[in-house]
Formats: sequence, structure tokens, C-alpha cells
Amino acid sequence: MKPDRYFFQASQFQQWLDSLLKSGYLCIGPQFRDGTIIYDDLHSVTQLPQGMTDQQAPGSYSLTNTHSNRFFDWANGPQAVKPFLFAARESLWSSQQSDQGGISFQETRPDICPTLIIGARACDVAAIKIQDQHFLQQEFVDPYYKARRDNLVVVAVNCSHPADTCFCYSTGDGPFVHEGADAVLTELDQGFIIEASTQQGKRLLEGMPLEKVTEEQLNQADLIRVKASNQQRKLPDYDIRARLFNELNNDAWHEIAMRCLSCGNCTMVCPTCFCHSENDVSELDGKSATHYRQWDSCFTQGHSYIHGITIRSEISQRYRQWLTHKFSTWHEQYGRSGCVGCGRCITWCPVGIDVTESVAHFQERRHV
Ligand code: SF4
Ligand code: SF4
Repeated sequence: MKPDRYFFQASQFQQWLDSLLKSGYLCIGPQFRDGTIIYDDLHSVTQLPQGMTDQQAPGSYSLTNTHSNRFFDWANGPQAVKPFLFAARESLWSSQQSDQGGISFQETRPDICPTLIIGARACDVAAIKIQDQHFLQQEFVDPYYKARRDNLVVVAVNCSHPADTCFCYSTGDGPFVHEGADAVLTELDQGFIIEASTQQGKRLLEGMPLEKVTEEQLNQADLIRVKASNQQRKLPDYDIRARLFNELNNDAWHEIAMRCLSCGNCTMVCPTCFCHSENDVSELDGKSATHYRQWDSCFTQGHSYIHGITIRSEISQRYRQWLTHKFSTWHEQYGRSGCVGCGRCITWCPVGIDVTESVAHFQERRHV
């Protein structure tokens, strides 16, 4: 579908948000919280992190206020769109024992309303597509994910300010959005170019005071794209997929594991990771219980516990699992790598382990 492309003034942003809220959407947008930028309910553009920009490095994140009038001049914080589709913890069913001793089970389904997320970046839009493959296109469709996905509208923002930890250009997922969003904003000094490429996206524009995009505005957008594509961090240029799988017994896994705390931060912030565990919580009445699903990580010992054996008892084995799945066997499952280059696992690793360096390590070692 050919995108509809217009311009609207920044001064009309609140008017647009009001119309989206009036249409019944639960609007979610980026906001400053706890020293970072996260997504939460959005009612006013004053909640957006206007004027803020970030500095990111391995194991390091900070924000400063530049007092610019830009709303989106920052790179992703720790939170992706993932929690709005694949809940960090939710109940799947509850069970109840009757007075006669029989047990009944009841499926629990979350209350979902039409939700519109504003501000998702290209890497996170690409991650949604990957998670769609996992949760929706296999033999067993996940009804919890599907209910949220069917009700989600994505208004993405082309990235003007990738962090030093970003490498979406080298994975081919950013910094500008290729596909997967309903509408995409490019922020300029005076306002936004908006491109709507789905029917839902086009409906979002109804009633908006839109202007024709000028050649000058398109040139400005292109300059932003070129500048944001100039990312220093990149994946090494070798066949990562094949090489990693041939290096399962390499000593490098132990060297990386000497630093890795096995904390699982990298998997919690990763927009494509989908590992989870399930457990039952009994009520004090001794008759009812709730079955929960929550995010888990391949860095926990419990995640590889099967029939009395922990398969990956060493940190080196768990790091190897993370890297070889993300960059190698993921291709067999989903036809591409599981990394969209968002850089979160680098910034939010407490010891600053850099996934691009880890991958490059195997290339270098090959040549010594
Ligand atoms: S592996 Fe790291 S850089 Fe790649 S998508 Fe996950 S968090 Fe982002
Ligand atoms: S690589 Fe970093 S974030 Fe991931 S488990 Fe190890 S220490 Fe934690």
C-alpha cells in the first residue's frame, strides 16, 4: 500500500493526541521515569521527554536536558514494545477445588482495549515482526499475545539520535522504519512528517490539520537518515551464523563467562527474547491456585533444568546458548538473526559485555 505522506506542526501534536484518545485508544508514549525513558499511559504531550537526550555506553546510561523543543531526540531506554504484547507476568488459568473434592480449571484472559503506541523505533518495530513469527505463525498461536497484537496500532518515530551502543544499521533494521508500523513520524524542527502505510494508519490522520510535505522537509528528513545511519558500532562482516556453531568448544566462551554475572539483564531488555517459565501460586484457603507465566532467561540455571539435570550449569554454557541462539540457530527457526541491533543488552549489562565484541571475538581468534 502506497503511504500517505503529510506534514503537521508540532503545535498541533496535542490536538492529534486528543483525537486519538477520543477515538477510544489507550495511548502509550515515552516518558522520563526513574532516570531513564520508558513507555506509559500518555494523555498529554507535556509527558513526553521533550528536550532530553541520552548518553549510552557499555554498562552506562544517562540523560541530559538540552532544552531543545524536540520530543524524540533520544535513543531507546531499557524498555521495548515487548511488554505491551508479551506481558512480563500474567495468569493463564486458575483452579478451584469444590467442597466435594473435584477440581475445575478456568482460563484467565486479560482485558485488552485498542492500544496505540507512539514513539517505537525501527529496531523495536522489527522486533515486533520477529515476535509475531514466534507467537503467531507457529502451530500453536498464543492467544494472549494475539489478543494484544490484534489491538495494537504502532506509530513509530524514525530515529534521529542513535546511541553509541546502537548498531541497527548493520543488522538492516534501522535507523528509519522500513515496514511494520501503521504510521511513521520524522521529527523536524517545526513539526513532523507523517507517513501512514496501513488502513489503520490512514484512519489516524482523519480530521488532522495536515499540510503538503515540501521538498525542503523531505531533504531535512533524508539528512537525518544519513546522519543516524553513521553508526560506529557494527556487527563483524563474516558468516556469524556458521562460525558460531563451529566454535562451540572455543575457550572464548570461558573468557567471556569470567566477566558475565549471569544476571539475565541482557535478555530482559532484549526486544526479541521470548523465554518464559510457568509456576503455580496456591491461595491460603488451600483450595484455589493460579497458574502464571513470566519472562525467564537462558541465563538462569533453572531454565535448563530438565528431569533432574541442569543442562547448562556453567555460565559459559549459558552465554553460549544466548549468543548461538540469537545469531545462529535463530536463522533456522525464523529465517533471520534474532538481533535487531537495538544495543540494549550492551548498555544495560552491568559489566558492559558488548554483544558485537563477543561475536567479533570468534572472527579474531580464528586468525591467531
Ligand atoms: S541481542 Fe542485544 S542488541 Fe540485539 S536485539 Fe537483543 S538487546 Fe538488542
Ligand atoms: S552478559 Fe551482562 S547482562 Fe547478560 S547475563 Fe552476563 S552480566 Fe548479565
